[in-house]
Amino acid sequence: MPRRTCVGCGRVAAKSDLLRLAVALARGGARVAVVDRRGTLPGRGAYICREGASRQPSAGCLALARRRRSIARALRLPGATGVGGRSDERAGSEPSRRGAPTLEDARTIDCEPLESVGP
Ligand SMILES: [Zn+2]
Repeated sequence: MPRRTCVGCGRVAAKSDLLRLAVALARGGARVAVVDRRGTLPGRGAYICREGASRQPSAGCLALARRRRSIARALRLPGATGVGGRSDERAGSEPSRRGAPTLEDARTIDCEPLESVGP
């Protein structure tokens, strides 16, 4: 069973006990963290505790994660900090920004926007 670390409280838990967060692109290209309820969005993911047995992130962990800005840090793609960099096109490396799903696409597969994680 794969184990993951909550970006809020730092608890290590089975992947199935946590909610996946991923990045989608808003109109205009801003990157937005979304709750990836089905766990199917491509690209880098981060994990956070659930609120009880719900499909909502734990409010406490979300507050901790926001204070520590750990969601943006966990979801930041290597090479995405520079402008116009093409280094993310390397074969076999992290998914390129171009490959990220749009927010509209993400919404159609049950993802809920959480917060902006930068341009
Ligand atoms: Zn947590």
